[in-house]
Amino acid sequence: MSSSLAPTPMDASSKIYVAGARGLVGSAVVRALQAQGHHNLVLPTSQDLDLRSQAAVETFFAQEQPEYVFLAAARVGGIQANNIYRAEFLYDNLMMAANVIHSAHRHGVKKLLFLGSSCIYPKLCPQPMKEDYLLTGFLEPTNEPYAIAKIAGLKLCENYRRQYGANFISAMPTNLYGPNDNFHLENAHVLPALMRKFHEAKLQNQPTVTVWGTGTPLREFLYVDDLANALVFLMNTYNDMEFINVGTGQEVSIQELAKTIQAVVGYEGELVFDTTKPDGTPRKLLDVSRLGAAGWQAQIDLKTGIEKTYAWFLNHADSFRR
Ligand code: GDP
Repeated sequence: MSSSLAPTPMDASSKIYVAGARGLVGSAVVRALQAQGHHNLVLPTSQDLDLRSQAAVETFFAQEQPEYVFLAAARVGGIQANNIYRAEFLYDNLMMAANVIHSAHRHGVKKLLFLGSSCIYPKLCPQPMKEDYLLTGFLEPTNEPYAIAKIAGLKLCENYRRQYGANFISAMPTNLYGPNDNFHLENAHVLPALMRKFHEAKLQNQPTVTVWGTGTPLREFLYVDDLANALVFLMNTYNDMEFINVGTGQEVSIQELAKTIQAVVGYEGELVFDTTKPDGTPRKLLDVSRLGAAGWQAQIDLKTGIEKTYAWFLNHADSFRR
């Protein structure tokens, strides 16, 4: 059986369900779709629809009959949240993926795009990480529950395609940041957490800001509007069984990242490294050659993306998630 299915590009009036439309990724997908003229979007909130409930998801698909699904709903967090809320990170993410993918199949969705994460790859994976390195080694322990749920999701897509010919594709984004991120001091990812720490330290004239770990781990960061453009592009053009990495192909150390955020925020104190906190995986750089061959590359560099995110943060001082 061929692994590629016939293209089914979206029309302006196609009915498109974005799961997780209030989140970092989902809200960016909605912006990208609206900018491209799509006007028939179905955007229930997590209060309207609990994706962990199989019955609720099944009723929703029966009533709404969406043609396209962006599965961007997930329980997410930084290294500490992943490590503490291990049961929920596994259960919630497994249930959301299984319920949405199964109901999408049952109700004949034309195409579904599942969002995974670069933490699906082994902790000591050769760098940059090619899609073929999946399941070749042990996972990073701090985010193993999340990674297992994301691997299950991409395997659901692969196997509904193998068994039923469903056009379900999966994209694995690198570390993301941008508007509508979570800026929680303890539970967020490094970029929003440090942005808020520098901002508050500046306002309160604090002499130091604490950065977790040694500052030496290397990470890749993609601005979420770049990701959203890639996802709309893939929904319209990518029909292969193999999942696809989405990143910039560039990496920075956590120390360099911290200094860049510090400069954008304009904080003049010192950085202190708390080595009692975990570093997590030493390096996490995606190989983006499959995406490049499909015809897409990132546009927004890290400094510009941090400036845009900080401008958004300042404009949403009362309402950002924390
Ligand atoms: P990861 O990519 O899954 O490890 O998740 P994070 O984005 O949470 O963390 C990336 C790296 O940044 C790790 O090495 C953390 O120890 C480091 N880091 C430094 N300061 C912070 C912080 O304030 N919050 C978080 N979440 N990570 C931090």
